[in-house]
Amino acid sequence: MQEAQSGAEASEPVAPPQAATGSNGNAMIDVVDLHKTYVMGDMEVHALRGVSLQITQGEMVAIMGPSGSGKSTMMDILGCLSQPTSGSYLLEGVSIGEVSDNRLAELRNQKIGFVFQSFNLLPRMSALHNVELPLIYAGTSRRERRRRAIQSLEAVQLGDRVHHKSNELSGGQIQRVAIARALVTDPAIIFADEPTGNLDSRTSTDIMNLFTQLHANGNTMVLVTHEPEIAGYCQRIIRLRDGEIESDEWIKEMSPLAKEIHGERAMSAPPTHSGDDD
Ligand code: ADP
Ligand code: MG
Repeated sequence: MQEAQSGAEASEPVAPPQAATGSNGNAMIDVVDLHKTYVMGDMEVHALRGVSLQITQGEMVAIMGPSGSGKSTMMDILGCLSQPTSGSYLLEGVSIGEVSDNRLAELRNQKIGFVFQSFNLLPRMSALHNVELPLIYAGTSRRERRRRAIQSLEAVQLGDRVHHKSNELSGGQIQRVAIARALVTDPAIIFADEPTGNLDSRTSTDIMNLFTQLHANGNTMVLVTHEPEIAGYCQRIIRLRDGEIESDEWIKEMSPLAKEIHGERAMSAPPTHSGDDD
């Protein structure tokens, strides 16, 4: 058992937890020894068991792993939608565990764009209104809201669908509205949990081309997928198994900033395509 002993044996030097992972103040995301335990009645589910990782500005990362391996739990924590049971999380240098609930909501609104598998749009509202929502929470003026929502919808090629309601759009268009909503606050980082999970393969390709373009424009993206074809669009693949990192590999060239933070890591072969069911 580990326990925190403040006071006792104060002269004993203790290595900071960051030392083990080579933490560096420049990482956009820096998590150390994250644990998440769900308690259900008298049963405990250890969804994350000591995950440490860093993500640099401008990376495009896939998180893979079998169902139940902790991918969504991890994304929800990284996206500040839930808190870990223990461990530390620095988002652009801010210690997420130490900020107030109000500040956390503010950070989430300013820094994070989140895209869900199930889209999470309000079905009876227009694309425009759905995309404006985060700006309403941010207190942006109506005029500015409208301007930015339209710009964001244009960025996902939906400039001609701004007044359509979700139930008047195709699955791929709905997901693009969800992406426009994630982009509208100009977040530092975009998280997407199985963003193509409910889409056919052609539409998935469109969405991944859109993500690739956003990445090329400088956005930092982290996405969960269990499809190797989708992960193949990313630079780096982190694999989870039973709540732990099983592997963390680069499949494409690192940027100079990433090299500085991660050091030189071996590149692995890109994931092989699992079939030709297209
Ligand atoms: P993945 O996204 O990789 O499928 P999850 O993060 O959703 O995995 O789940 C990891 C583990 O935690 C699973 O065993 C799951 O059943 C459990 N779990 C996830 N969310 C909850 C919750 N809200 N309450 C209890 N157990 C949960
Ligand atoms: Mg999941």
